[in-house]
Amino acid sequence: MAKPKVAFFDFTCCEGCQLQILSLEEELPEILGLIDIVNFREASSAVSNDYDIAFIEGAITRESEIPRIQKIRNQAKILITIGACSSIGGVNCIKNFYPMDKVLQDTYGDKAEWYDIIPARPISAVVPVDYQLQCCPIMKEEFLYLLKCLLNGQTPQFPKHPVCVECRLKGNVCVYDKGMTCMGR
Ligand code: SF4
Ligand code: SF4
Repeated sequence: MAKPKVAFFDFTCCEGCQLQILSLEEELPEILGLIDIVNFREASSAVSNDYDIAFIEGAITRESEIPRIQKIRNQAKILITIGACSSIGGVNCIKNFYPMDKVLQDTYGDKAEWYDIIPARPISAVVPVDYQLQCCPIMKEEFLYLLKCLLNGQTPQFPKHPVCVECRLKGNVCVYDKGMTCMGR
C-alpha cells in the first residue's frame, strides 16, 4: 500500500512546533517507514505540491498568506493545525489589541509600507481545519497519537475541556494560588 504523502507548512510563528516533531529522534525512523514527508522546510529541501495530509504551523498575519493556505487546503485531504499559533492565533494575536498602523510603524518604521500585515487570525478563520493540536509548543505524545489514528483510519479524540479541569479533579492546588506561574501541563 502506498504511504500517505505528508507535508508540513509554516506561517507566522517561531517554528518551535516543527522542532518538537524533529526532536522525536527515537520515533522518527519508524514514522518515516509509514509516511512520505514531501515538504518540511525545517528539515528538508524537498518541495512537492502532491500531498495527502498537511500539517500547518503558524497564524495568518499577512494578506499574502490567505491565498497560500487556500491553495494548501485545496490540495490536502486532511489539514491539521499544530500549535497555538495556527489553532487559535497564539501570541501573534497580541498585536490585534493595538491599531495596525502603530504595529506596522513600531515594527518596521519607514519600511512599513513594504509589508502586507493584517490582524492575526487562526487558520480556521480562513479555511476549514480537520484537526487541531493545541499547546505552545505541541506535545510530542499528542502528535504521535494523532498520526497513529490517521494511519489506522481512526478519528482522534482530544479533551474538550481545559487542563484546569483535570488538574482540579486530581485535587491539586492551583499554582497561581501559590504565587507561581502555570505552564498548563
Ligand atoms: S505554538 Fe508556540 S512553539 Fe508553536 S510555533 Fe507558535 S509560538 Fe512557536
Ligand atoms: S495549576 Fe494550572 S492547570 Fe492547574 S488549575 Fe491552576 S492554572 Fe489550571
